Amino acid sequence: MDDHNSLCLFCGSPLDKPLYQGVRDSLGMSRRTWTFRQCSACGSATIVPLPGPDELLAAYPPFYAPDQVPRNTPIRRLLYRVETALFYHPLYRYSVRTVCRVTGLHGGQLLDVGGGTGHHTFFFQQAGFECTVLDFDKRALEVASHRFGLRTICGQLDEVELPPESFDLITFHTVIEHLPNPRRTLCQAYRLLRPGGWVVAKVPILTRGQARWLGRRWSQVTEAPRHVGLPTPQGMERLFAACGFEFQAWTGPHILDEASALALSLIPSSRTHTSCSGQGDIRPLVLRVAGAALTLIVSPIALLLIRLNEPGFGIFFAQKPKDHFAGE
Ligand SMILES: [Zn+2]
Repeated sequence: MDDHNSLCLFCGSPLDKPLYQGVRDSLGMSRRTWTFRQCSACGSATIVPLPGPDELLAAYPPFYAPDQVPRNTPIRRLLYRVETALFYHPLYRYSVRTVCRVTGLHGGQLLDVGGGTGHHTFFFQQAGFECTVLDFDKRALEVASHRFGLRTICGQLDEVELPPESFDLITFHTVIEHLPNPRRTLCQAYRLLRPGGWVVAKVPILTRGQARWLGRRWSQVTEAPRHVGLPTPQGMERLFAACGFEFQAWTGPHILDEASALALSLIPSSRTHTSCSGQGDIRPLVLRVAGAALTLIVSPIALLLIRLNEPGFGIFFAQKPKDHFAGE
């Protein structure tokens, strides 16, 4: 036997089925190819072997959040404003609406894990939550505190010192799929939530619509090695249960979110990071317009996938039991 990780990141069962081989990083940060294996218990996929901490860190580009992309020319500034207003803001508003509707919360202490520049978190702050952004990216957190006025903590959730039972809501917006040990992180989230508090996680979903059609070309797969795991709904339910949470519900994403993941799979170089990383202004403009046009073209398919309960992303909700007492 080899010394590779052999257990599913989500349910802990053996990774007994090969899934994707020869996967290349769509950002080109990692030079090698990657393999995903699947567990037959929950159907989720895990990258094998798991990249080490240094390899993983080196796979992140200097700017990973759209807010960090250089805006040093008039065209880039215009692109940023248009993208933010027409794409990101509708997604953030949808996220706040969905979280408030499902959890019934309209305020309280919120911890946004992996919240980066805090742009998304800021919409929760506007909706009445007291928000804290946790991230390991110092430069992203500077944006969160200076531009959005958010409280920030630099570090990993399972390493920082925070008082137990101090949050009403902990959010993981497309973060769980990046974690080499999601169970340890969610168990820490459990400790930090008050009884009855909620954890909300948006993740890509393997084995539904897009993932099934596109296979190893799906934009969420070619995000390897930054994506180390791709869960199924069953995998997420088991992960929550293993940390003591009561799984409550999951729901599909905003139509633009679903459509852009599909467009990104078809034109990988249209994503903000790639299109803006070169010199000049014409290339990012052309690629971004092509990506946006394709997003609109495929949006009826995206809507259909969401309606058929076959979305490429899910927003998962779980609750710490109300009758949990510390020290029990
Ligand atoms: Zn599994």
